Amino acid sequence: MAPATENHTNTRRPLLTLQQAVAEAHRCLLCHDAPCSKGCPGGTDPGTFIRQLRFYNLKGAARTVLRNNPLGGTCAAVCPVESTCVRECLRSGIDRPIDIDGLQAFAVAYGRQHGVRALARGAARKEKVAIVGAGPAGLTAAARLAQLGYPVTLFEARPKAGGMLRYGVPPSRFEEHLLDADLEEILGLGIELRTGSPIQGDDGAAHLLEQDFQAVFVAPGLWRSYRLEVPGSELKGVTTALEFLADVHNDAAKAAALVKGRNIAIVGGGSVAMDVARCCRELGAGRIYAIALESMTELPAQPDELDQALKDGVIIKPQCQVARIVPLRGLPGVAGAGDEVAGVEGHETEWIEPGKLVPQNARPVEGTGFKLRVGAVIQAIGQGPTDEIGKILTQVKKSGPRWAVDEATQATAVNRVYAGGDVVRGAGTVVQAVADGKRAADAIHALLDGKERA
Ligand SMILES: Cc1cc2nc3c(=O)[nH]c(=O)nc-3n(C[C@H](O)[C@H](O)[C@H](O)COP(=O)(O)OP(=O)(O)OC[C@H]3O[C@@H](n4cnc5c(N)ncnc54)[C@H](O)[C@@H]3O)c2cc1C
Ligand code: SF4
Repeated sequence: MAPATENHTNTRRPLLTLQQAVAEAHRCLLCHDAPCSKGCPGGTDPGTFIRQLRFYNLKGAARTVLRNNPLGGTCAAVCPVESTCVRECLRSGIDRPIDIDGLQAFAVAYGRQHGVRALARGAARKEKVAIVGAGPAGLTAAARLAQLGYPVTLFEARPKAGGMLRYGVPPSRFEEHLLDADLEEILGLGIELRTGSPIQGDDGAAHLLEQDFQAVFVAPGLWRSYRLEVPGSELKGVTTALEFLADVHNDAAKAAALVKGRNIAIVGGGSVAMDVARCCRELGAGRIYAIALESMTELPAQPDELDQALKDGVIIKPQCQVARIVPLRGLPGVAGAGDEVAGVEGHETEWIEPGKLVPQNARPVEGTGFKLRVGAVIQAIGQGPTDEIGKILTQVKKSGPRWAVDEATQATAVNRVYAGGDVVRGAGTVVQAVADGKRAADAIHALLDGKERA
């Protein structure tokens, strides 16, 4: 089941013009206590940058955004603002909330076009810091530590930096050049990025401390897709959301070959399932089903994501479960021994205990069986940490399924090892990962600067 914190709502839209941006900034009430600024988990201060835009301090606005959040251009495009700053803006009593993300996108784009460099390397320090994972959490921590003067080495398993922004969020929803622009400034701080360099093996994180690093921040995200445990899940044409979305990014022909002209069963009803549905529609799929255990009002996807899916003709099958994936050879009247998917069989479900939305709490309703002819099944039922992460964090204590960290510092119980981002909070958002990276960097600085005991 998709975790409840998953919440991605933005769609791609054109940049505001200068006139539009200034006019929008003039609508702002310049609230004394700026609720919008309190609403950002990453500490962005719309109250300040909107005021700067209003008084034509356009470069200053870009600096305000980026100094607080080095992924400010990216966040303007992907942040779920309806549940953060924009929601808080409504508390100001304004009739229509300010287009905060539109203004942030404008400010950063203006700054980039006019050569603004918001980040600068601090006076050189000798203590080296290692960061595992170049997603939003790792990149933010790296930028902040480099600004404080620390030599930072960023170990990234994949060929490119960016994490889920690079390999997950659909390109039709997020323009990668925004990430590239943020990255250019971050890496320009002199950070050593080692791509294709996974940290592996028992206690791998703590071992970095034996290699001349004084502190380690571990932010490897959640890259193991949960899979259905039903007959037929090994068939050709059954894949996961992450595999499919990575292909959409890197091998569009392969992604299209899976779905074009075929009916698709997406298993899951969260934001990732809706992203998959959107990509299937763009790639020319036939009928697209989203099969979820939750009822329509319980689905984890946001209302506007659901609206978009319904507009795209996605057929939501709420309170339903896939019980079996049927191979071509299993279909009556079909000759041959094909191992390709030909359909799914399932039934409607009900919760055994109302309100407990976990798969173990769902039971089939008798007499509600259904069969769907589909040519591919894409599982979007959540992600967890890979087994490798369990190994590299061997000594770090867990609290339930997650590694335990101090909420104020991201410190684990292992001396000088910090962790953050999705790997400790579960599937979250980019700005939450940014916030973790900032907290970890500040705590590592406090530790290395001797302000705090390890
Ligand atoms: C399909 C999809 C759409 C999304 N859309 C949005 C959205 O619109 N808005 C939003 O705010 N959030 C969205 N999210 C969530 C957001 O992407 C994540 O919350 C965020 O990326 C988490 O950042 P992170 O740094 O913790 O991890 P990640 O982004 O997962 O980055 C972790 C990095 O660590 C690397 N790594 C893993 N293991 C190792 C290792 N052993 N050694 C070295 N490197 C390693 C990985 O390759 C990766 O680059 C989406 C997520 C998905 C899956
Ligand atoms: S809450 Fe809204 S009106 Fe008030 S300062 Fe922030 S953006 Fe302006």
